[in-house]
Amino acid sequence: MAITCKFGGTSLACSRHIQQSCRIVKADERRKYVVVSAPGKVGGESKKVTDLLLACYANRFDAEVFESLFLQIKERFLEIATLANGFPMEEELKVLYAQIKSSEANVDFVLSRGEYLNAKLIAAYLGYEFLDATSFIRFQKGELDLVATLALGKRLNKEKRYVIPGFYGLDEHGHVKTFSRGGSDITGSIVARVFDCELYENWTDVDGIYVADPKTVKNSRRVGQVSFRELREMSYMGASVLHAETLMPLYESPIPILLKNSFQPEAEGTQILKKRTEVSDREVITCITGKNDYTCIQISKAMLDKELGFVKKATAVFEKYHINISHTHSGLDNLCFFVENSEYKQIAFEAFVRELETSIDADKIKGHQNIALVAVVGHNLSGKIGMLAKIFNALEARAINVKTIYQSISECNIILGIEEGQLNDCIKALYQGLIEEKE
Ligand code: ASP
Repeated sequence: MAITCKFGGTSLACSRHIQQSCRIVKADERRKYVVVSAPGKVGGESKKVTDLLLACYANRFDAEVFESLFLQIKERFLEIATLANGFPMEEELKVLYAQIKSSEANVDFVLSRGEYLNAKLIAAYLGYEFLDATSFIRFQKGELDLVATLALGKRLNKEKRYVIPGFYGLDEHGHVKTFSRGGSDITGSIVARVFDCELYENWTDVDGIYVADPKTVKNSRRVGQVSFRELREMSYMGASVLHAETLMPLYESPIPILLKNSFQPEAEGTQILKKRTEVSDREVITCITGKNDYTCIQISKAMLDKELGFVKKATAVFEKYHINISHTHSGLDNLCFFVENSEYKQIAFEAFVRELETSIDADKIKGHQNIALVAVVGHNLSGKIGMLAKIFNALEARAINVKTIYQSISECNIILGIEEGQLNDCIKALYQGLIEEKE
């Protein structure tokens, strides 16, 4: 059996980090498929190569700015290339320079070159074959085409050892197309699935998943296991663990993910499984996270409960204006839709509200701004007696007002709506009340 291991940008930021990551690869024969990100930040001030590429593309007509940005990319890759004697990095960079300057350059292609060059170089260093993601990863209408990708992937030779660039594939017109930022995690899942791996190891610069972001809660506890559903909830609600779409290629497979720290390989990490195998009382809650910048659109209408098709009419207007709804809550005579502010910034919000008003003949529509949503994610939360009491006690102690709360019967989360400025305090209070109390 084989393992796919994906290394993030920090684990591959310079020759020293690449050496360390490659030692990990070599330490286990089963690590046959290596997916790589572009070089990330080397230190506090430095930039990710992907950001430099993006800036180069944006400034390709401004010779002075372009040259200084490209020089930074060049220096990064030439330093990395010291690992593999004879690797033609200077030539590769000349080609890249011309490609970015070319009138046909497209932004996704340029963005993908960090992964491309890193993978080529690391393949040479490891003595693995370079396998370009364009040979099997396909997009259709901007989204991953998993069916086509798996079909092409099945034709690949499984006997070989590959280094594969993360983050991109080909669209239906034969152009390079990238996932959204951080998308190499998705490539890792695809590769694990294509090669029927026993495990997908995702190597980053943290020891695993923490109940709360350690930047907010010092000494936050690491979680041993999380389920696919929990991971999805936590990523969706702002925990920057893995890319939010990482699990999609793995839903119909038994392949688990193991999150590990390449700078601390002996640390246990966090397992991400279809279903958790251990749920001790102490480990019921896997994450407390949240995000600012939500608006709640509240629609009020008398006798709403008697009106058939009301929700359908309202959501049709959201759909027409391409506004994605994050959450909904309903009451007897009102309905609330929570949307991320970024969803409606580009549209004429007033026209949208007017149309909503007329199409459903509402008594009142009110937008509540400056809302943060906080999620408590865990196993079978709706079946735990006293969970909400603990939440409210913890928040009352810190004078945090809950504007809205939602707990569905089957989901593994409880969502709270609070005032934006209180997000970090709320996470700290919940951690203290729900986790520290159990330690
Ligand atoms: N290099 C890309 C980024 O910085 C993709 C990735 O690392 O996953 O977002």
